[in-house]
Amino acid sequence: MTELLREASLCSEASDTLDPRDWEDLRAQGHRMLDDMIDYVAGVRDRPVWQPIPDAVRGQFRATLPRQPSDLGEVYREFTDLIAPYATGNVHPGFMGWVHGGGSAVGMLAEMLAAGLNANLGGRDHIPIEVERQITAWMREMFGFPASASGIFVTGTSMANLMAVLVARTFALGKSARQQGIGHEGAVLTAYTSKAAHGCIAKAMDIAGFGTDALRCISIDQSHRIDVAALRAQIVRDREAGLKPFLVVASAGTVDIGAIDDLAALAALCREEKLWFHVDGAYGALGILSPVLAPLLKGMEDADSIALDFHKWGQVPYDAGFLMVRDGERHRQAFAAPAAYLRRETRGLAAGASWPCDLGPDLSRGFRALKTWFTFKTYGTEKLGAVIARTCALAGYLEQRILAEPRLELLAPVNLNIVCFRYRAINANKINGDIVIDIQESGIAAPSTTILDGQLAIRAAIVNHRTDARDIDALISAVLEFGAQRSSPDDGIVLQVEPSPPLAM
Ligand SMILES: *Cc1c(COP(=O)(O)O)cnc(C)c1O
Repeated sequence: MTELLREASLCSEASDTLDPRDWEDLRAQGHRMLDDMIDYVAGVRDRPVWQPIPDAVRGQFRATLPRQPSDLGEVYREFTDLIAPYATGNVHPGFMGWVHGGGSAVGMLAEMLAAGLNANLGGRDHIPIEVERQITAWMREMFGFPASASGIFVTGTSMANLMAVLVARTFALGKSARQQGIGHEGAVLTAYTSKAAHGCIAKAMDIAGFGTDALRCISIDQSHRIDVAALRAQIVRDREAGLKPFLVVASAGTVDIGAIDDLAALAALCREEKLWFHVDGAYGALGILSPVLAPLLKGMEDADSIALDFHKWGQVPYDAGFLMVRDGERHRQAFAAPAAYLRRETRGLAAGASWPCDLGPDLSRGFRALKTWFTFKTYGTEKLGAVIARTCALAGYLEQRILAEPRLELLAPVNLNIVCFRYRAINANKINGDIVIDIQESGIAAPSTTILDGQLAIRAAIVNHRTDARDIDALISAVLEFGAQRSSPDDGIVLQVEPSPPLAM
């Protein structure tokens, strides 16, 4: 300790801290970064959606630990040259892979402000936590949840679903399970979801200590909705076998084709059977903002908990997942834990209980609420709902184009904003897989794939608010063009894209 003291100069000068010597220089660099990123977002349509990463670029990220400082401008140059051009591409309107939100410039600015405040939202008494509580109150209002409902930001719906399983677990087994583990009583608990549910539900069952075998994946109907009669029958069978059903996880927007389970029927069944009713509304739940889509979500208001992502249909920059629990007390019982160093007071900075750290595994937490608050306030829910409805209208347009084109085949009903189709060909699975990669590498669009009944589908999920009919047309043209090339005997690639313009001039 004394040695450390001898080395340090205790009266801080700029050279001792991480602050710049010259704030004006930092200001100029900061303004430039901001201008560049605004240009990047504004001009994203002129860039390839995604481009393959050259080995030389990847190699730049295998450097050794930087012991010495570098000039900020030089580090930023590496960002503009090596990082920005090789991002995922979900800012681009041609990005239709998986389920990715497009973000917004407003969200970007809010992230910058949040980083400046450097707020830690684990607890304590400060307005950033009130902003998060404001979002929770808005979610209660949107979903028709009672005043006692709790809400918390998390990374994403994978985490929110896991936390919901843990809340349901503690409710089913009592708080003692938190000391004693799930034990014999927990070993007979069973949960239910559909075969089309997201993989993170099974992962949650694994992490929560039940094992994935305790999750019953119930069959689905033609529209990929859970077969409620089959679910009911499985619950009866399991009870007869001495098992204890405790949880049903419904999907409000399946990841494969956007199917919404019959939430009202599931809510009624769960009430009857006394099961925890959780809704995985990762991207679909925000459909509640569109008067056209809201009726499809009927029954969600009766859920015990809802997981959703603001970073998908909500267009909030990554990451911004959210969990809401109808009975906030049950939520707290699953996670709150006393600690001497986290003592709560009635005044001072340690006031303001309960704290977000009582509602999940995280103690230190960032200010995800701010970019969400800015997004909701700046655009308003009507506009956000209209953007969501528009992605569905575009999916309908893509569906029409596929149905009108004999070389293409629709592979699943279009429920919301996800379209699964393929190019008709002899070796269809191989060829369609290649077509998708060709299109990604061309930079024209970025669809992904899924397997439906053993058939490989080109999957276009329209989530980005920037996507319009031009992007749908470009996707169709690219599928037809690459499809023709791939099905001809010598499948040479002719489509070329121009190199991406530099980020900073
Ligand atoms: C995206 C998604 C998830 C996972 O959410 P993350 O935010 O990626 O963790 C879960 N379920 C569904 C239906 C999804 O679409």
